[in-house]
Amino acid sequence: MTIQIDKKEFELLLEYDQIEKNIRLIGIQINVAYEKRLPVFISVLNGSFMFAADLLKEIEIGCEISFVKLASYQGERQSEQIKNLIGLNMSLQDREVIILEDIVESGNTLKQVIELVKKEKPASVAVCTLLLKPAALQHDFDEIAYVGFEIENEFVVGYGLDYNGLGRNLKDIYRLKREIP
Ligand code: 5GP
Ligand code: MG
Repeated sequence: MTIQIDKKEFELLLEYDQIEKNIRLIGIQINVAYEKRLPVFISVLNGSFMFAADLLKEIEIGCEISFVKLASYQGERQSEQIKNLIGLNMSLQDREVIILEDIVESGNTLKQVIELVKKEKPASVAVCTLLLKPAALQHDFDEIAYVGFEIENEFVVGYGLDYNGLGRNLKDIYRLKREIP
């Protein structure tokens, strides 16, 4: 099955049934690992909204969730990029944090998110990502504890992930197949 977004053709990669199944398995692991620890999930928007909604339905232990965005702005020096987590509306001090990501490619974004979370002095930081592209990863992370799917180094859309703002609403995940001439 293929779909078209703008001038690109995408083909089915992961069906929602399979996504749901792997999310259920992650949920079980988190329920066991974090029992009585009252973790805080930090969902990194926009891409992770659907994953966060489905995963949280599988979490049966006490927990909180906060939705954040990684923003960057120009510092005092022109060359200086300052990163900031916007939307963090609670203290993470001494909390058990689980970062929820849609996808980790090079890991540059995740590295920044982890650094910003660690500045808040949490008791622990773990990362849960729906998708991981091992071949594209440029950093070593001890924090990545839960992965839904390892995928090839190719562009995907759907289930929260977009192409030019489109496709986030798709229930399944599709990979780029070809340009339409
Ligand atoms: P990284 O910093 O790990 O290289 O990339 C992370 C961000 O790039 C993700 O949060 C996501 O916004 C975007 N990204 C990476 N790979 C893909 C992909 O295959 N599809 C989409 N839609 N976004 C991606
Ligand atoms: Mg993301």
